[in-house]
Amino acid sequence: MNLIDSHCHLDRLEFNHPDENLQTVLAQARDRHIGGFLCVDIDLDNFADVKRIAESAPDIWCSAGVHPLADLNPEQLDSVRLKSMAKSSAKVVAIGECGLDYYYKKDRQAQQRAVFEKQLAVAMELELPVIVHTRDAREDTLALLDKYTSQGLKGVLHCFTESMDMALAALEMGFYISFSGIITFRNASSLRDVVQAVPLDRLLVETDSPYLAPVPHRGKSNRPTWVLEVAEKVAEVKGLDLAEVANQTTRNFHHLFPTEYTGTSASEVQ
Ligand SMILES: [Zn+2]
Ligand SMILES: [Zn+2]
Repeated sequence: MNLIDSHCHLDRLEFNHPDENLQTVLAQARDRHIGGFLCVDIDLDNFADVKRIAESAPDIWCSAGVHPLADLNPEQLDSVRLKSMAKSSAKVVAIGECGLDYYYKKDRQAQQRAVFEKQLAVAMELELPVIVHTRDAREDTLALLDKYTSQGLKGVLHCFTESMDMALAALEMGFYISFSGIITFRNASSLRDVVQAVPLDRLLVETDSPYLAPVPHRGKSNRPTWVLEVAEKVAEVKGLDLAEVANQTTRNFHHLFPTEYTGTSASEVQ
């Protein structure tokens, strides 16, 4: 079995014990057959940390991009700089996370749209997939994605918490849907209906650590190890074996992101 945490913020992890650090947390995850980590950038300023972490091990990759809640104005996002960041390492496999969050920032919709669209254009130009954060912004997110997917843009709606309609529309555009520990929460039954509906070959799993620890770890700082709990919940909802969910979501990950994956890894046949 092989499992990948398709979205984590390794530069922002918090540790629950004084003897823990990034290396011990990654070792703990690898012991549970988690063989890949995508360390996601949220701002221009933390890209150096994200890239350094990705370059420290063969099973870590990273992205370059600006989160909608980073509150950047469009003129502060230099597309040339973002492109050179993205091209500065083979470990950069995506643009993002970027998108629209009208739940927390209703007053900055126009700025968010402009910053998002700039990043979609960079992703198109570099032929990289995009990691999309979307919350309470269904119409505007889908309208922008439609404009770019029709020109060949690929990507994933990460930490999906929106409606069935939105998931189906994104699937129709060729997007992947990634689920986090939120699907384990007791009050998330309508989201589990979406898990049920998304075909396994279009589904990714993630922790979004250090945020959103799954059941039974709620209240703690999240860590990549617990992507296993997310995959277990997907397996339970879909009535599948955990190994099938793990191996297929791993194949999906390498299909979407340019990780130079060479096929079946040794751990996949166990
Ligand atoms: Zn996000
Ligand atoms: Zn995130």
